[in-house]
Amino acid sequence: MIRKTKKVTINGAGLIGPYLGILLRRRGFDVEVLEKRSDIRKITAEVGRSINLVLTSRGINALKKINRWEEVKKITMPVSGRMMHSTSGELTYQPYGGEGDVNYSISRTELNRFMISEAEKLGVKFLFSTDVKQIDETKNLLILKNEKGEEVSHEFEVLIGADGAGSVVRKKILKLQNVEDKVEWLGVSYKELFMPTNADGSEQIDKESLHIWPRGKHMLMALPNLDSSFTMTLYLPEKDSEVNFDQLKTPESVEEYFKTYHPDSIPLMPNYLEDFGQNKTSKLGTVRCSSWSHNGKMGIIGDAAHAIVPFFGQGTNSGLEGCVVFDEIFDRYDSWNDLFNGFFDSYKSNADAIAKMAEENYIEMSEKVGDEKFLLRKRLESFLHEKFPKKFLNRYMMVTYSNIPYSLVYKIGMKQTEFLNSLKIDKTSDFEKIDLKTVESFLDQEILPLIKV
Ligand SMILES: Cc1cc2nc3c(=O)[nH]c(=O)nc-3n(C[C@H](O)[C@H](O)[C@H](O)COP(=O)(O)OP(=O)(O)OC[C@H]3O[C@@H](n4cnc5c(N)ncnc54)[C@H](O)[C@@H]3O)c2cc1C
Repeated sequence: MIRKTKKVTINGAGLIGPYLGILLRRRGFDVEVLEKRSDIRKITAEVGRSINLVLTSRGINALKKINRWEEVKKITMPVSGRMMHSTSGELTYQPYGGEGDVNYSISRTELNRFMISEAEKLGVKFLFSTDVKQIDETKNLLILKNEKGEEVSHEFEVLIGADGAGSVVRKKILKLQNVEDKVEWLGVSYKELFMPTNADGSEQIDKESLHIWPRGKHMLMALPNLDSSFTMTLYLPEKDSEVNFDQLKTPESVEEYFKTYHPDSIPLMPNYLEDFGQNKTSKLGTVRCSSWSHNGKMGIIGDAAHAIVPFFGQGTNSGLEGCVVFDEIFDRYDSWNDLFNGFFDSYKSNADAIAKMAEENYIEMSEKVGDEKFLLRKRLESFLHEKFPKKFLNRYMMVTYSNIPYSLVYKIGMKQTEFLNSLKIDKTSDFEKIDLKTVESFLDQEILPLIKV
C-alpha cells in the first residue's frame, strides 16, 4: 500500500532519478537514490558523455513544477533555429518556430549537479559508487557493489529504476514476466568532437543556432555551450552505407572524410583528429517494452522505460514529463501496483509516439533539411503559423513548444500534412493567394477540437 510505504529506493542519479526523488520527497517519503558512478559534483570533467542537451517546453514545465526553472535558465544558452552548412560552406538558416520560440542548450553535467543538490536539500539521500548488481524481489533485497568493491545486501520497499537505457530494473521486470528485453538499435552511432572558442573567448560560429552539416545518411551537429564553445556530434551509420564508422579507422581516413563532407568544419575544430581517436563511439537505440512494473514492487521511468534516439532532443524532456505525469496521477491510487499500471496507461502511448517521431526526425535532419521540397514546406508552415499563431503549430512546434501529449501531436501532424498536401503548393506558388478561410475552417473544425480534449 502506498500510504504504508516509508522508503522509496530509486536506482540511478542521472537526470531523471534526482528529479523523481524531489517529487517523492515532497510527498513525505524517505527517498534514497543509488548511483553506480561517483558523485558528479566532485568530478571536474565528465568523460565520454554528451556534454550538452536541449531543454524545451516539457522539461521546462517539470522544472517550473518545482519552482526551479528561473534558476536553471540562467545556465542555458538560448537557441532559436537551425543553421545548415552545405558542402561548399553555404549557410541557410531556418527558425525553429515563431517569435520568442527558443530551445535552451544546457550542460548535462551542470543540470545533473543542480538536480542532485536540489534533491539533497530536501532530504533525498544519495549513495554514490553503489552499483545494483542483483534484485531479489521475493526478499525485497538488492545486492550492491559498494565503493570498496564489496558485495552487500540492501533492503528496499519499493524500487524505481531510473537507471537509463541499460536498466537492470527493466531487465529484472521483463525477466520475471518472461519477456525478452531488447533495445532496437538504429544502426547509427555517434561520436563527440569539440569546437573551442576564438582566442578572445568569442564564438567561432553563430551561438544562437544549432548547426547541422546534413549529408544524406550522415551528419555533423554543433550545439553551443555556455562559454561559447560548441559540442560537436558526428552521426554516422555503423556499416553497410556509402560512408560509415567502420571505414574511419585511421587518422588518414578520418581526415579524408572531413575534407570531403565537412571541409568548413575543419578549421573550427583544431583537435578533431585527436578527439576522433580518443572519444568513444556510442550506439543509438530505442527501448519499447510491454511492461514498466512488476507487482507494485518495482517500476521504471525515464530512459529505463522509454529511451529514444536523440534527433528530436526529447529524451530528457520526455523523461521529466513522465515524472510530472507520475506525480499528477499519484493521488488517484492506493497501491503501487495500480499507480505503476496507471502510469503505463497514461504515458506509454506518448512515449511510443515520441520514439517514432525521433526516428523520423533522423531522416529529416540528415537528409531533408537541405532538400528544396522540404524547405518549401517549412516556409509554408511558417507562413501559416504567422497567419494563425494560436491555431497552426507544425509538428516540431507542438513537440518543442507545447505540452500537447506526444500521441496527439503525432495524430495532428498527420492530419495537417494531409491538408497541406491538398493545397498543392509548389515553388511557383504565391502563399498570399492561399485561401485562408479554408485553412482556418480546417483548423477550427479538425485541429482545435483535438487540442481542447
Ligand atoms: C547524443 C545524445 C544527445 C541527446 N540530446 C538530448 C537533448 O538535446 N534533449 C533531451 O531531452 N535529451 C537528449 N538526450 C537524451 C538524454 O540524454 C536521456 O534521455 C537522459 O539522459 C535520460 O536520463 P535518465 O536519468 O533516464 O538516464 P541516464 O541519464 O542514463 O541516467 C541513468 C543513471 O543510472 C545509473 N545506473 C545505471 N545502472 C545502474 C546500476 N546498476 N546501479 C546504480 N546506478 C546505475 C547511471 O550511472 C546513470 O547515472 C540525448 C542523448 C544522446 C545519446
